[in-house]
Amino acid sequence: MRVRQLLDNASFTWTYLLIDEPSGEAVLVDPVYEQHLRDLALIRELGLKLILTVDTHCHADHVTGAWLMAQALGSRIAVAAAYGAANVDVALGDGETLRVGGSSLEVRATPGHTDGCLTLVGSGHDVAFTGDCLMIRSAGRTDFQRGSARRMYRSIVDRIFTLPDACVVYPGHDYEGRTASTVGEERRFNPRIGGDAREEDFVGYMDNLGLPHPKKIDIALPANLRCGRPEDGVYPYRVEWGPVVATYAGLWEIGPDWVARHRDAVQLLDVRGAAELTGELGHIDGVQHIPLDELRARLAEVPRDRPVVTVCQTGKRSGMATVILRNAGVKEVANLSGGMLRWRQLGLT
Ligand code: FE
Repeated sequence: MRVRQLLDNASFTWTYLLIDEPSGEAVLVDPVYEQHLRDLALIRELGLKLILTVDTHCHADHVTGAWLMAQALGSRIAVAAAYGAANVDVALGDGETLRVGGSSLEVRATPGHTDGCLTLVGSGHDVAFTGDCLMIRSAGRTDFQRGSARRMYRSIVDRIFTLPDACVVYPGHDYEGRTASTVGEERRFNPRIGGDAREEDFVGYMDNLGLPHPKKIDIALPANLRCGRPEDGVYPYRVEWGPVVATYAGLWEIGPDWVARHRDAVQLLDVRGAAELTGELGHIDGVQHIPLDELRARLAEVPRDRPVVTVCQTGKRSGMATVILRNAGVKEVANLSGGMLRWRQLGLT
């Protein structure tokens, strides 16, 4: 399985997109609510079929994006049965196997940070997604949510350190930007549980961390017990005015077919140079023309009473135009994907 590691830099959460290349099926581990559009865009752009989201545990520091993905892509929601959440499709227990195309993940119960923590292990024992159990030169805190340093000690020693030395450890968080480790490395160098550490050493360390109470716990826990479904049950990222899609680059795009059918409902804004409008590709009738170089100075000319669709030759400069317009407070704006080139290729006029 191919691993794509994605950071939420507010909570320092690592989200993992696990891809079974031959089938194109994918699983998203520990998605973050606020990163939904980014994750959705990557999955779409790579042409993957997201079959499942898995949360390694009930997070106290961020809200899961599991329910959002289920709404957007129909993926199923998997969490530990012990987690006791609503809106769950697959209640996981120790020893179960998750199939992703021709690949699979083994579910190991690794309680200690919470009593429902899971570690996901690749079938070849080459990768382990350890959530907030074993972390890089660290381990997840054990001082709330029925955490227990003694249980975590057993989880790490019996369920993770028994994996091969070369098994890559991907944690749920890293606050120093470290991306991965290995079982062998952590067995030697983890300052809490590596080397000759015995249970009393680990428990003594963990019981004296003196960490502050998690800031978002009062919001995160109830939301995660709904798998991230908002209280009103409304998917918050639907764009009302048209089928606008966020790209992994962070731009908003709209397809030419829809634009051709809804010309009167939007303001088309061509940002090419004047000569290009009468060049080989021509221009769309009735389009407003402001060259990109002049857009910042001429923002007042852009109508605000309808959505703006920006246009250029191939959709690059017009992508920049959407950024300028958004920064200027124009909320309903999208880039015509593929620009005039694609417009003409599709035979649109
Ligand atoms: Fe956690």
